[in-house]
Amino acid sequence: MTTNAPTPLERPERPFLSVVIPCYNEEESLPHLYARLTKVLQKATDRYEIVFSNDGSRDQTLMVIRDLVSKDPHVRGVDLSRNFGHQVCLTAGLDAARGEAIVMMDADLQDPPELIPRLVAKWRLGADVVYAVRKKRHGEGAFKRATAAIFYRVLRYFTRISIPVDTGDFRLIDRRALDAVLAIRESNRFLRGLFTWVGFRQEPVYYVRQRRHAGETKYPLTKMMRFAMDGITSFSSVPLRFAMWVGLASSALAFLYGLRVIYTGLFGGGVPGWASTTVSVLFFGGVQLFTIGLLGEYIGRIFDEVKRRPLYLVREVIENKSVTAQRAESKIIPAYDAQKGTS
Ligand code: UDP
Ligand code: MG
Repeated sequence: MTTNAPTPLERPERPFLSVVIPCYNEEESLPHLYARLTKVLQKATDRYEIVFSNDGSRDQTLMVIRDLVSKDPHVRGVDLSRNFGHQVCLTAGLDAARGEAIVMMDADLQDPPELIPRLVAKWRLGADVVYAVRKKRHGEGAFKRATAAIFYRVLRYFTRISIPVDTGDFRLIDRRALDAVLAIRESNRFLRGLFTWVGFRQEPVYYVRQRRHAGETKYPLTKMMRFAMDGITSFSSVPLRFAMWVGLASSALAFLYGLRVIYTGLFGGGVPGWASTTVSVLFFGGVQLFTIGLLGEYIGRIFDEVKRRPLYLVREVIENKSVTAQRAESKIIPAYDAQKGTS
């Protein structure tokens, strides 16, 4: 994974850390997450921020975020105008983050905050992207584990960049790498692929994935399949070539079968069977529908891109009033603020 030779980088011992968390109906998890995170972060650095990105939650998530913001100036919130989906919601949070090193993690405590110091340590040694690999997954059904395992391997096989297997979005990224990713505004986002695509120095850290703290997964089978399709289609055109190979293979079979037909016609006087006709009609019908559907998947995504709609809309940026006032006064508003709300 490691790219070119390490450059001597000056990485601060106690960096400005941002932790970005996409939240969709996570009212129960957030207070616990906040408590555990704060404990870890206060030890790691004296400058940090926690950015909660609210993805149009229908429960009290927004209230919880407001409450945390009002109590703690380290907390900020981005409230999206509706549910835009996990990857876009995460992007919105990343757009708002201002840290030198940025950690992104799920809200449900499946990604343990206690791993953050290890991520930071690797970053300080010069890694630009430190991704957390799931060694084990607790509390997730055999079906989810199996489909995830297959998906990561299929993805690896199909794409030219080697997206690390069993790796979710839990990772730490350096500001440079993040800016590179944020400059990419494609709408069918598969962030973990983009983070690999940009390169830089990438290092793994291994951990055991915990069970969800509360609530249930926001990824039912249909969403998981869409996510998998996004992953494959945005990083690979191999499926498009699939039609050609199936076409070739079936023509070869048809040719062999044709030889047999000629042979029986000449010597056996065989009866032309309807079975073979039906079978081949069905077979080619299936292949054609499948490949048309496949084209549709790509065309749909091209359509999404050419519309060039903004990735998301922000309803409100929630900040602690005392901090906002302070920043306005001292005029040290970082450049990243300019990106906020745009997309
Ligand atoms: N999430 C989101 N928008 C959505 C679905 C999920 O922001 O439309 C967030 C969710 O709150 C969580 C993260 O994305 O922080 C991962 O979701 P989840 O834990 O449900 O996925 P799983 O771990 O089951 O794959
Ligand atoms: Mg989860």
